[in-house]
Amino acid sequence: MDELFADPELSMSICVGCGLCCDGTLLSHLAVSDESDLGMPLWAMGVELIAVAEPPVIELPCPAVDHGICTIHHLHRPRACSQFECSLSQAVLDGEIEPTAARAAIARTLEVRAEVGAGSRPRSDLDQLLDRHFRGSICE
Ligand code: SF4
Ligand code: SF4
Repeated sequence: MDELFADPELSMSICVGCGLCCDGTLLSHLAVSDESDLGMPLWAMGVELIAVAEPPVIELPCPAVDHGICTIHHLHRPRACSQFECSLSQAVLDGEIEPTAARAAIARTLEVRAEVGAGSRPRSDLDQLLDRHFRGSICE
């Protein structure tokens, strides 16, 4: 296995410019254990904890994501943000797919999402790509 593929920093880099797990495309909610896990940066952005859910959650899209980048990455984020791996990022971590191929899958998915948004493709085309590349047993 190419050692580069096991580099967490390199794997993380495929997330930059993606943000599909933050912007409501892949997931509708993010589990957050309590107010301190939510943290001041998101609280200041008006994010509310849905405490009636078990575990508590916040609704996505997250207001901190901008063009696929987490703008509070250097500040406090909920624990789940640093722990979450979609199938694609996990495959990069495991050395099963090269980062360049992963980035191509992300770029294609973003393109199809834009086309769905513009009404020129059915939503099912996007769902197929999300299922194929990003959804696995760790995505709920
Ligand atoms: S959907 Fe996957 S590749 Fe995209 S930002 Fe989330 S974890 Fe990273
Ligand atoms: S805090 Fe950052 S990593 Fe967590 S959901 Fe929001 S944009 Fe994504």
